Amino acid sequence: MSIFSHPAYDKHEQVAFYQDAKSGLKAIIAVHNTNLGPSLGGCRMWPYADDGEALNDVLRLSRGMTYKSAMAGLKLGGGKSVIIGDPRKEKTPELLRAMGDFLNTLGGRYITAEDSGTSVADMHIIGERTKFVSGLNESSEHGGDPSPSTAYGVFVGLKAAVEHRWGKTDLNGLKVSIQGVGNVGFRLAKLLKEAGAELFVTDIFQDNVDRAVTELGATAVGADEIFDLDVDLFAPCAMGAILNDDTISRLKVGAIAGAANNQLAEERHAAVLREEGVLYAPDYVINAGGIIDVYYQQQEGEYSPAQVKEHIESIGTTLQEVFQRADETGETTAHVADRVAEERFGHEDALKKTDTAAA
Ligand code: NAD
Repeated sequence: MSIFSHPAYDKHEQVAFYQDAKSGLKAIIAVHNTNLGPSLGGCRMWPYADDGEALNDVLRLSRGMTYKSAMAGLKLGGGKSVIIGDPRKEKTPELLRAMGDFLNTLGGRYITAEDSGTSVADMHIIGERTKFVSGLNESSEHGGDPSPSTAYGVFVGLKAAVEHRWGKTDLNGLKVSIQGVGNVGFRLAKLLKEAGAELFVTDIFQDNVDRAVTELGATAVGADEIFDLDVDLFAPCAMGAILNDDTISRLKVGAIAGAANNQLAEERHAAVLREEGVLYAPDYVINAGGIIDVYYQQQEGEYSPAQVKEHIESIGTTLQEVFQRADETGETTAHVADRVAEERFGHEDALKKTDTAAA
């Protein structure tokens, strides 16, 4: 398995591997960029099929965190960690404490938080061994869990997309399909329901679908059917790479705005969406609510929910600027967002562009 020449390596500053035979921990920490501050990103626990899949995931996610934090105006770099294993079967306090030891070896260049497969309770156990852990501030509204803030940020961003695409601020009667009604998707569905939207949901867990149907009056649809619906907006809130050659040609929506990370299977799919007239809210811009929340949790001094909310609401303005700039330049929204983020964290290529412009 190659590392430096890995397709997803993209100038990572550091990639660290760790194994603890006693607890069975096998983990990777990827630090993409620390120009703006220490890298911060969640710890994902997943039963990866092999090490290569885990490495690919951590590299892609950690790069995304650099762009996300830069775009959200946070003094943070991008990093991420993965634990290889099934969180429902293999997660033990010993393993989480060993993860704390691993974090210490990076001396604060990487700070962890919750992600798929890890919870607030897990962060407390990791925190028994290290101070480089966030997402466990009990004075935050949800005991440290970033999901409600992510959902709120997606809701704000979705409204900005609706306004740009259809020139309206009212979500009443808007038909929205949601893929994945888990921690973020369900909360987003709730906010949309309160705003008068009509919901169509799918999830691989039937109890999650049932909850959305009974509590929110959503219409349940099949896992594959979600791409064929005649609705206004699609909110991907499950997994990555779901905007691909197969799905884009089937979608009938005017806009895509959801929480999932790495929604585009390949960069070129942003251009395909644009050609199809679909407005795409870049994933790392719209789903930054959680990292904004975690950032404030990790700051010294009192956590202020009002300050966090205000910062999350800036996602709407940022997206409006991205949409506007894409209209003006003819670029894709994804490309515009990348460029702005790169200017902010000082990506070499962006710096070269600036140098050339200045010369
Ligand atoms: P989650 O695991 O709680 O929810 C995801 C849901 O998607 C689950 O209910 C799962 O059953 C469902 N799902 C998985 N595959 C599916 C499929 N093929 N079809 C339909 N449903 C499927 O995770 P979450 O915390 O809600 O995160 C959702 C997405 O948002 C992820 O991509 C995550 O990386 C991203 N995200 C989350 C946060 C956060 O704060 N939790 C922050 C930023 C980005």
